Amino acid sequence: MPYLVLLGAPGSGKGTQASVLAKALGVPHVASGDLLRAHVAQQTELGRMAHQYMTRGELVPDDVTIAMVMERLDQPDARQGAVLDGFPRTVAQAEALDARLAERGAGVDRALLLVVPDDELVRRLAGRWLCRQCGASYHEVSNPPRQPGRCDRCGGPLFQRDDDTPTVVRKRLAVFREQTLPLLDYYRRQGKLVEVDGVGEIAQVREALLAAALGTPA
Ligand code: AMP
Repeated sequence: MPYLVLLGAPGSGKGTQASVLAKALGVPHVASGDLLRAHVAQQTELGRMAHQYMTRGELVPDDVTIAMVMERLDQPDARQGAVLDGFPRTVAQAEALDARLAERGAGVDRALLLVVPDDELVRRLAGRWLCRQCGASYHEVSNPPRQPGRCDRCGGPLFQRDDDTPTVVRKRLAVFREQTLPLLDYYRRQGKLVEVDGVGEIAQVREALLAAALGTPA
């Protein structure tokens, strides 16, 4: 069972696709942003600290995110494989991940990059609604829920993230370019990077990603 890293700018569809991919492969979906938001909601010490960075669109310090994700990967369901979403976001995080997986005789099998143009990213984030209960993601124009404000999948309430505002979105895109783009070279050098077109129907992108994850041509 594989360890896959899903890379892409905010709004590229990482969360939606990571969840689908994880189900298809029978491995857990490990999303650092979701883990952090759970800490924020529970008002843990980590959550209070992380929240300051998240509301500004900045990265939470490496030592905090690394410890949090490694703890998740140590749980029994993630000891054979996982789809990682939002982590790693820096080269230091990627190195920490490699070191931990090497200890269990594993490694990152592939890093899949979802490619989406900037104007499309901004459009997507501005209309994004998420389910508070199950994390499903909707867009008010391109993928609306059947009933406004309610999740199709579980009936939970939908909300908009407080870091999906135009100013914070611009900052998150800049942070992605500066701090996360160097990761592409990191995985490219290891021959693990596969680029996938992230524009199009959700099902179509899913097929392309699955093919890339399993090593068959899209
Ligand atoms: P996401 O849900 O992946 O868009 O993450 C939301 C926010 O959580 C980001 O803008 C960061 O502030 C923080 N965050 C999530 N994952 C990481 C990470 N791997 N390293 C640092 N900060 C992160």
